[in-house]
Amino acid sequence: MSTTNKAVEEAKAPGPLRQVLAPIRGRLIAAAMLAALGSMLTLVPLAGIAHIAGIVLDAVGRAGGSMSSTATMRTDIAWTVVVSLASVFVGMALISAGELTAHLADNRLTLDLRMSAAQRLSQVPLGWFTDRAAGEVKQAMQDDVATLHSLSAHFYPSVGRAAGAILISVVYLFAMDWRMAIVALLPFPGFFVFLRHAMKAGGANMQDFVTRLGRINSATVEFVNGIPILKAFGTSGRAHDSYRDAVDGFAEAFVRFTRPLVSAMSHAHAMIAPVTVLGVVLAFGALFVSVGWMTPVEVLPFALVAPGICAPLLLLHTLLHDLGSATGAAQRVSALLKTPVLEPYAGQPQFPGHHEVRFENVGYAYGDGYEALSNIDLTLAPGTVTAVVGPSGSGKSTLARTLLRFFDPSQGRVTLGGVDLRQIPTSHLYRSIGFVLQDVRLIRASVSENIALGRPSASRQEIEDAARAASIHERILTLPRGYDSVVGVDAQLSGGEAQRVSIARAVLLDAPVLVLDEATAAVDAGHEIGIQSALSRMVKGRTVMVIAHRLDTVMHADRIVVLEGGVITEQGTHAQLLARRGSYARLWEKGGYEALPGADVSEVASC
Ligand code: ADP
Repeated sequence: MSTTNKAVEEAKAPGPLRQVLAPIRGRLIAAAMLAALGSMLTLVPLAGIAHIAGIVLDAVGRAGGSMSSTATMRTDIAWTVVVSLASVFVGMALISAGELTAHLADNRLTLDLRMSAAQRLSQVPLGWFTDRAAGEVKQAMQDDVATLHSLSAHFYPSVGRAAGAILISVVYLFAMDWRMAIVALLPFPGFFVFLRHAMKAGGANMQDFVTRLGRINSATVEFVNGIPILKAFGTSGRAHDSYRDAVDGFAEAFVRFTRPLVSAMSHAHAMIAPVTVLGVVLAFGALFVSVGWMTPVEVLPFALVAPGICAPLLLLHTLLHDLGSATGAAQRVSALLKTPVLEPYAGQPQFPGHHEVRFENVGYAYGDGYEALSNIDLTLAPGTVTAVVGPSGSGKSTLARTLLRFFDPSQGRVTLGGVDLRQIPTSHLYRSIGFVLQDVRLIRASVSENIALGRPSASRQEIEDAARAASIHERILTLPRGYDSVVGVDAQLSGGEAQRVSIARAVLLDAPVLVLDEATAAVDAGHEIGIQSALSRMVKGRTVMVIAHRLDTVMHADRIVVLEGGVITEQGTHAQLLARRGSYARLWEKGGYEALPGADVSEVASC
């Protein structure tokens, strides 16, 4: 099936494109109709020229006509000119009205899509964002919506104009002389025959072309990545070989792919070149005149109108071809608008009266079905520090994230003060639970706004105090505009500095429940002690969950929970766990799960 046919099928199918455009479909159809009518009217002058030529030639044939017939001829010509000019102006006005209608409809659609996407994203679980690159959301919100803009604002009026011009031309030619009309239109089916041939010719070698292109891509990456090693070992000459082979292979595949395609495409385009159509009209016109089927003046409309079909036909073909990329864009936008959202709370929102956290038979499976947590029963008593330890991949971060409602458990429930997290309004929940995660996100705003994200009403003094507590105050003062420097513009912060800003954020939020996941992972040794003391001040009197890798750092926690394969295998104090002589004790003897730098919570836990 040719690309054009495929695009037409896609346009007909009740696919994502139809769904996305549904709210403005009526207006788009109206825009296309206005443009079609407009383009029909703008072609009236061509018929007018043919009509005037007919009148003049007729008069010349009857040379020496009476005064009255000359006057009639003049009136006829004048009326033809007036009608032609009026048609052009009205036609242009209709085309503009079509464009305006489409643009207004598009404005509405673009606004609605962006608003619905923003609305949807405000309800999706926070964990959804951590799974995705920002680029994916940007692609849908920005690039895909822009692609849809070109479709809704330009596609329909353009298709209307092209289709209108083709339709009126064909109808006019058939009205003039059906035999000549058939002959004059013969090159157009020829275009589609060659086009189909070109697609077949290209399709045969397409796979090879794509494979070779893929090979050249990986050879380039290998080549560039390998440069330091190859240079260091003095084997730089050999590095070129595989790259050169890939390039040569691609060049051959490219020629195989394009040679038949180019020749078939040039035949196709030659078929609908205006000069070809004009040649056919003149050749058959001469023949028809010679056999007495037509007069020369009757051939004129065909010579004027038939070549004019070429441009709109090509435009139509290109527009339908471009529909493919719009379908992809619509697919991504619809997928974004269907992103599963957090379950809305049923009934009245509730506000917890105290700060005990309970995990009740909690299980969580990621989208791929992998069960990261199962049957978790755990209570974080108010004012205590609970450390969660376990090998990498045992589910520690997943556990912390269910408490932060990055996602809801697939089984069981998490409660705060006896209230299911799902029933606590999100704004209240995030005022009650502060967190410092390994994966720090700063927004493109001033440093002070970043620190005051959870408490925008905080005074500058409070923000600075929080920054001091997180050992980041001095560094902020060295930024070009101090606290007003904008992250990513004139505040370029290292991973450790960003981590300290996020700690300042948690200090300022002053929430009764705290989740620290690898809180000092990215912080350099020089600042670690300062931060530890800030954290120890922060955990006082709060309900705290600490995720840590280093066992020696959690020994003073009120309770240590050992997570293995998504289930709690042991829990108790450091001393109790050592006495059990289970996996914690064995690992303690070996020196910990991992030698990774982790949150040193010894001071935190000892408070
Ligand atoms: P830990 O914090 O103990 O290293 P995690 O909670 O990060 O462990 O991960 C627990 C398990 O869930 C791991 O097997 C991990 O591969 C899997 N997992 C984590 N995040 C995702 C995700 N976004 N999608 C699918 N699986 C995930």
